[in-house]
Amino acid sequence: MVVTENVPLAPLTTLKVGGAARYFIEATSTADVSQAVEFSKSADLPLFILGGGSNLVISDAGWPGLVLKVGITGINHRHGHDEVIFEGGAGEDWDKFVGMVVAHNIAGIECLSGIPGSVGASPVQNVGAYGQEVSNTIESVVALDLRDGEVHELSNQDCGFSYRTSIFNTTERGRYVILQVNYSLKHGAEAYVAYADLKKYFAGWSEKPTLANVRDAVRKIRAGKGMLITAGDDDCRSAGSFFKNPILSADRYQALTARAAAKNLQVPSYPALDAQKKVSAAWLVEHSGFSRGYGSGPVGISRKHALAIVNRGSATAADVVALKEDIQQRVEEIWGILLEPEPVFVGF
Ligand SMILES: Cc1cc2nc3c(=O)[nH]c(=O)nc-3n(C[C@H](O)[C@H](O)[C@H](O)COP(=O)(O)OP(=O)(O)OC[C@H]3O[C@@H](n4cnc5c(N)ncnc54)[C@H](O)[C@@H]3O)c2cc1C
Repeated sequence: MVVTENVPLAPLTTLKVGGAARYFIEATSTADVSQAVEFSKSADLPLFILGGGSNLVISDAGWPGLVLKVGITGINHRHGHDEVIFEGGAGEDWDKFVGMVVAHNIAGIECLSGIPGSVGASPVQNVGAYGQEVSNTIESVVALDLRDGEVHELSNQDCGFSYRTSIFNTTERGRYVILQVNYSLKHGAEAYVAYADLKKYFAGWSEKPTLANVRDAVRKIRAGKGMLITAGDDDCRSAGSFFKNPILSADRYQALTARAAAKNLQVPSYPALDAQKKVSAAWLVEHSGFSRGYGSGPVGISRKHALAIVNRGSATAADVVALKEDIQQRVEEIWGILLEPEPVFVGF
């Protein structure tokens, strides 16, 4: 186990802000992970688990304890009843995993192409895009439980998935180090084309799009929004969508539409669970004076997507937080809704 000290974290993230880790270990096996956890316990160091760094805002002060990067690799598949189980090591690149699944003509996660990050982080916020969420296809999650030091296999139900949440970022936050994620997928099933952007992309096609067509389309649509990490594109120096889409009760939704009507505006929405309505956070941000390309300093809003706060090159974490607070304050003043950030704030 190699322990390094004072390791800058900004280069290990997509937003590229923040300070250093006091201690840093990259673990490539379960035994390494256990040893690193022991090290943090014996030295009484706070532990932070790092994946691909694509959903993080690291504070300018950095992390005072141990940052453990999970680098366990390996992708295997086996055939179940009428499904194919793909097992991905937590440190595998998520988009490589999706690419491999699609190349086997296996359906279930094709719409999640192009999302940055690792397989291990995919259950944490129940990654989702274009109508699919990992909670639809995760069979189980293999994780080291820091409470008893044992490796457990958690079923889909155990993970408590909901919109952008699971037990890993809510009730059991900080308890598990995810080592492997097992996906239950369908061989030869049709590609999922339900989301408006995808329907538009394939309008006029005489043949049903294949899984590979959908993967390709999703990556192209994402690139057009700065939501695919693309070398040379400053608009993807971000943590992706910075705010979650608020889910409102019927009453709160009605209050919002009344405010919009008073301004001759209509709130775009789609039905979520029960009587709730999921509202586009991007629409709220754009209709609160923060349009695409906003800001001329070191931090601003992507020219391609109103929900992405971007580091224009020399931003600090403090700059990012200041813009985040401006947006939240303004949206709340105008629309009566407090936007909840999606990224994880580390060391604040
Ligand atoms: C351009 C861009 C586009 C994006 N688009 C989407 C999108 O469409 N949909 C979406 O849902 N998200 C999106 N994201 C957010 C991000 O890609 C996902 O949340 C991704 O799953 C984060 O993976 P990561 O490995 O980078 O995790 P990190 O950012 O390193 O960590 C995120 C959280 O997961 C925890 N974690 C990471 N690995 C483990 C592990 N092995 N065990 C336990 N905890 C762990 C960390 O402690 C942290 O709390 C986007 C981000 C960017 C930059």
